[in-house]
Amino acid sequence: MKAEIIAVGTEILLGQIVNTNAQYLSEKLAQIGMNVYFQTVVGDNKERIAEALKIADNRADFIICCGGLGPTQDDLTKDIFAEFVGRSIEVHEPSLKKMRELFKKRGINMTENNIKQAYIVSGCEPLQNDTGLAVGVALTQNKHHYILLPGPPKELKPMFDRYAVPWLQSIIGDQQPLHSKFLKFAGIGESILEDRLKDLMEQQIDPSIAPYAKEGEVMIRLTTKAETQKKAFEKMKSVENEIIKRAGKYLYASENITFEEALIKMMSSKNLTLSVAESCTGGKVSELITSVGGSSSVYRGGVVCYSNQMKHEFLHIPMEVLEGKDAPGAVSTQTAEMLAENLNHQTNTDWSISVTGVAGPSESEGKPVGLVYIGIKQKGSPIKVKSVQLPGNREMVQLRAAKYALYQLWKEIREI
Ligand code: ATP
Repeated sequence: MKAEIIAVGTEILLGQIVNTNAQYLSEKLAQIGMNVYFQTVVGDNKERIAEALKIADNRADFIICCGGLGPTQDDLTKDIFAEFVGRSIEVHEPSLKKMRELFKKRGINMTENNIKQAYIVSGCEPLQNDTGLAVGVALTQNKHHYILLPGPPKELKPMFDRYAVPWLQSIIGDQQPLHSKFLKFAGIGESILEDRLKDLMEQQIDPSIAPYAKEGEVMIRLTTKAETQKKAFEKMKSVENEIIKRAGKYLYASENITFEEALIKMMSSKNLTLSVAESCTGGKVSELITSVGGSSSVYRGGVVCYSNQMKHEFLHIPMEVLEGKDAPGAVSTQTAEMLAENLNHQTNTDWSISVTGVAGPSESEGKPVGLVYIGIKQKGSPIKVKSVQLPGNREMVQLRAAKYALYQLWKEIREI
C-alpha cells in the first residue's frame, strides 16, 4: 500500500511558504501504518496538476492532495481531479447551507465564486471542514484511493485527523504503525560512524537504519512497525545494542534531543553548576546553553570578554600574557587556562569553561583562522586546556568552537 502526497501551490514552488502540510501528513500516515513513497509539489497549473495526478496514479495506491480547494480562479484541484477520474462536479448541499448561514451571520454578501468551495466529486465521500469553508473529498475508484484536502493547515489538520484518517483506516484495516528510535552521537563524524556500522546498514531490513548529520551531531534513526512503541523498541533492541557496542563512546542520548539538552540534563541530574568565559565565540556558548528550557538550574552566567581590556579588567589576565613581543597572546593555552581558572574562582561554580581563538576572516597574533583553545575547569581540580584547528568561515568557526567546548565539557563530566 503505497501513498503519495501532492501539495498544490505555486507559493511553495516560489519558496514563499514551506510545505508543512506534507510533513504533517507524512508523519500522520506513518502513524497509521501507511508507507509514503513520494511527496510531490506542483504549481496552480491545470496541465501540471493533471500530470502530477497521472504520475502518482501509476506508482501509488493512495493519493492525498492538499491545496487549491478555495474560491478563487487559481483554485483548480477539484475540477482537474473530477476530470481525471471521469466524474462530474456537484454541489454538496450541507456545505453550501453552512456557508450561506455563516455569511449571513457575519452580514457579508456571499459572492458566487464561494459556491466552488461546496463542490464535491460525484459519488465521493465529502470530508467536513469544521474550521473553514471548503469541503474535502475522499474517493475510491479502480482500487485507487484519493483524498483532497484544503491548503490552510488550520483546516487541513482537523479535516485529516477527524474525517480522512477514519476513512483511510476503514480501507487499510488495522495496520501496525511505524515507530522510530533516535540514537544521537557527538564527537564522531557521519562518515566514520557510517563506516563502523556499514555491515549493519547493508543488511538492514527491519528495523531500518538511517543516519542524519547536523553541525556537530549525528543521528541514527531506527524504524520499525509494531502494535505499540514498547514492542517496537523491543524489536530494535539487538540492533541498538550492536550500534552501542561499536560507537557507544560517542552516544549522548537515546532520544531525539539536542546535544545542549543532553548536557543540561546530565549536569542538572548531578546538581552541577556552570559558568562560561567567551572570547571568539562572542556569547555563542551561552546562547546554546540558554536555548534549553530549564538551563537556569545549571547555568550561572557568562562573561563575553572580547577585547584584551575586558579580559584584563574582568578576569584579571595580566597584560603581559595578552600583549607584547614575547607574550603568549589572547589566543593561547595560558589565556584559556587563566580565563577558566579566574572565572571559576569568582563564580564558585562546579565547572567553568573558557573559549579563545581566531574566528577570522583574517589571522590574529600570527595565529591561523580556526585555531581555538578551550579551558575546562572543575572546582578543586587542575585546569585542562584543549586546542583544536577548526575548518570553515567565521560563522562556522564560532559555532564549531562553541559546540566543541560543550562537547569537551560533556566528556569530562561523563567520565566522573
Ligand atoms: P483557500 O480557501 O485559503 O484558498 P485552498 O485550499 O485553496 O485554501 P491554497 O490556496 O492552496 O489552499 O492555500 C491557502 C494557504 O494555505 C496558503 O496561502 C498557505 O498559507 C497555506 N498552505 C497551502 N498549502 C500549504 C502547504 N502545503 N503547507 C503549508 N501551508 C500551506
